[in-house]
Amino acid sequence: MLTKVIPQAKIDHVRKWMERADKVVIVTHVAPDGDAIGSSLGLYHYLEAQGKTVNVIVPNAFPDFLRWMPGAKDILRYDKYKEFADELIAGADVIFCLDFNALKRIGKMADAVAASPARKAMIDHHPDPEDFCRITISHPEIASTSELIFRLICRVGDFGEMSRESAECIYTGMMTDTGGFTYNSNDREIYFIISELISKGIDKDAIYRKVYNTYSESRLRLMGFVLYEKMTVFHEFNAALITLTYAEQQQFNYVKGDSEGFVNIPLSVKNVRLSAFLREDRDSDMIKISLRSVGDFPCNKLASEFFGGGGHLNASGGEFYGTMSDAIELYKRALVKYQEELTKK
Ligand code: 5GP
Ligand code: MN
Repeated sequence: MLTKVIPQAKIDHVRKWMERADKVVIVTHVAPDGDAIGSSLGLYHYLEAQGKTVNVIVPNAFPDFLRWMPGAKDILRYDKYKEFADELIAGADVIFCLDFNALKRIGKMADAVAASPARKAMIDHHPDPEDFCRITISHPEIASTSELIFRLICRVGDFGEMSRESAECIYTGMMTDTGGFTYNSNDREIYFIISELISKGIDKDAIYRKVYNTYSESRLRLMGFVLYEKMTVFHEFNAALITLTYAEQQQFNYVKGDSEGFVNIPLSVKNVRLSAFLREDRDSDMIKISLRSVGDFPCNKLASEFFGGGGHLNASGGEFYGTMSDAIELYKRALVKYQEELTKK
């Protein structure tokens, strides 16, 4: 029923590694999102059931709304337990690099992963993968890494063995990387996969509620504030911008994840094709940029050209070291540069 997206030779290669490995480490990108955690835990449950010793290691914290996920409590944070994590990384037989395409995307973990003698396999859907893994399974045409994990488990012939826990994690990643199947989600095979996941006993409606409907009151008020006070629509560019300073975050008892999804909201304004969200991040002393676009406008190109970042055609991000007003100016310059593409009929 499913197209064989991953080449057979790579499936065979990964299968051989998985059969032989005892100690497996799974790593994913900084500020892990639903797909990063979903793909990692989806694979984690599968490999644990095969009797492997598996550790999921993430560079830093992930949002509270992912904490319910089965296995989330066992995830090791590199920023908290560096020494232990370094040992696991160095001693692993196989390291799976999930949902990122370049070592710099795992921050401070990069050196340990690069230095480890473990066999490394990348499974990812970001364009332009760097060459740091023996096996690189890179499919930008697939909406989520979690979907690739599903496809991998099926192709090694183990769909029958997939647990409900694994299916829940995979579904979560597929859902979050498509905004609840509202973008990047026209591939009909996605819905075949969902049907298969439901056959494993997942409650997709409950998962939606657990991810999207468990915010704090202050987060909702923050959303009201930014939409009323902090959103600019540049009609002549079909673009929008929301900014959020550190002082404003404090005013609303901001916790990590509270601005998740804000960047998507201006896309609901008629004709808006590009939206940016700029947030002062005190932890890393920079301004974090999130970009979203609709249709064929490549917001990843803009992210890499102006904000040293990258990502997908319709969802990308980057960083800016400087003041908020300078970041805003830079965004406006980017709009001028891309005006023609943003306003073409
Ligand atoms: P978000 O806006 O949800 O933080 O990120 C959306 C997507 O943009 C991510 O899935 C990732 O692909 C990409 N992205 C975000 N920040 C960065 C960055 O600093 N550098 C690169 N290369 N990609 C980023
Ligand atoms: Mn992803």
